[in-house]
Amino acid sequence: MSRHLVWLRLDLRSRDHAALQAACRDPDSEVVAVYLHTPGQSARHDLGARRSAFERDALAALQPTLARLGIPLVQAELDDYAAIPAWMVERVRAWGIGAIHAHRALEIYEQRRDEAVAAAVATEACRLCLYDDVCILPPGRVLTRDGRPFTVFSAFKKAWLQQLPTVAAAQPQPRPRRQHFLPLCAEPTPVKPQEQDWPAGEAAALAALDAFVAQGLADYAWARDRCDLAGSSRLSPYLTLGCLSARQCLHALYRQGPVDAPGAASWLNELCWRDFYKHILVAFPQVGRHQAFQAATDALPWRYDELEFARWREGRTGFPIVDAGMRQLLQTGWMHNRLRMICASFLAKDLFIDWRWGERHFMQHLLDADLAANNGGWQWSASTGNDAVPYFRVFNPWLQSRKVDPQGHFIRQYVPELAAVQEVHTPVLRHADYPAPMLDHGQARQRVIAHFRALRGDSAQLGLWADDGS
Ligand SMILES: Cc1cc2nc3c(=O)[nH]c(=O)nc-3n(C[C@H](O)[C@H](O)[C@H](O)COP(=O)(O)OP(=O)(O)OC[C@H]3O[C@@H](n4cnc5c(N)ncnc54)[C@H](O)[C@@H]3O)c2cc1C
Repeated sequence: MSRHLVWLRLDLRSRDHAALQAACRDPDSEVVAVYLHTPGQSARHDLGARRSAFERDALAALQPTLARLGIPLVQAELDDYAAIPAWMVERVRAWGIGAIHAHRALEIYEQRRDEAVAAAVATEACRLCLYDDVCILPPGRVLTRDGRPFTVFSAFKKAWLQQLPTVAAAQPQPRPRRQHFLPLCAEPTPVKPQEQDWPAGEAAALAALDAFVAQGLADYAWARDRCDLAGSSRLSPYLTLGCLSARQCLHALYRQGPVDAPGAASWLNELCWRDFYKHILVAFPQVGRHQAFQAATDALPWRYDELEFARWREGRTGFPIVDAGMRQLLQTGWMHNRLRMICASFLAKDLFIDWRWGERHFMQHLLDADLAANNGGWQWSASTGNDAVPYFRVFNPWLQSRKVDPQGHFIRQYVPELAAVQEVHTPVLRHADYPAPMLDHGQARQRVIAHFRALRGDSAQLGLWADDGS
């Protein structure tokens, strides 16, 4: 009788799960699933309480699903990754595990953790088997003709689309085990209050995917840019925790009809961005260590003003659309994509505060906090990344506000001080409870452009940036 351990990470589901499938391949094998909480490590990686609670809820939802498949779920709390090899060796020995199955991590600390575990359990004649399952197409698969990673999204997407037909079908749940060697509910997880907008777990994630594809996709191409509408899928918290695989999203797209229809093509484009940033993180691991992709931009004289940073964080900038976005983040743990771009541009360009401060704040508060996507989004917005917005493009918060929230419904919801104000985008009167704009956007724009131009003058490398002559 062989015994297998499935080491769950950001893949909290039972369907379309390569590691679980592999562990269950032999119908007679006994399988145990393990999830290791490492709060010390999470704190070092800036992951906030909200995402951790969502993760615990997703595990609580997964436990009975796995129990029905005859797979006990064991959870343990260790401080950090350094404690994992010894824990695994002890369990492998106690349970007689022949193989550990898990999905290949893309981040550098997680890769080192896995190397250490593989070496430790090898002493017990146990193998750590890793499977590519996080992206639709795994890092290393989408390369230029001469085998280099793409750094420009449009070229990456062209090659990615050509390879899409090779993506395997989504896998169903494995068949229930005939027997198990641990009690099925050995360590039940207390159920916590659920996130209102994101009920935890795989079933909720699949229901949200089905609902979006049936009702949201047709209008997605235009509605995605409106923060006053539920125009995008809002699946990112589920995708980040792996309650849903990106492959399942792709196959849901295939099932609904042609993928070149406007809504479907536009959504496929976003799934491609998800893969793109993960491929970038693997090919250029320095971006995961808080370094700018365009290393020369680290010489910019970024500002570090704590008081101004606090006003941005708390939504007290006096720019209603920025404040509404920042308050949405604090209240719900999520922010609309256009608002992430507007708020990030405001911090990095208008306030000229180091984008890493903003990146960290988003990591601490987002339910969908994901190193690759968050870093990619911040470096794009700050013009420090690969294929980033050109440095001279500085989002105008007044104009953006009218585009993303034409009637001001969203602003009134999150900035109640302005609920009764007619001209909500550019409030002309001073309102007792609402601050005046903290800066002059035109002057701020000139300042950031001047800094980038001065840097460009100093550095030949900055020929990488196009200039529209403005
Ligand atoms: C500054 C900044 C920070 C960001 N931080 C994160 C983050 O920590 N985690 C995260 O998942 N996304 C992040 N994004 C990307 C994007 O804003 C969110 O993925 C999106 O808003 C999620 O909403 P949705 O699920 O309705 O997306 P949809 O529009 O329905 O897109 C479907 C899925 O595609 C993926 N996706 C969409 N846009 C992007 C993108 N630009 N980059 C990478 N993946 C994308 C997400 O998984 C998303 O759920 C960030 C963007 C910016 C500008």
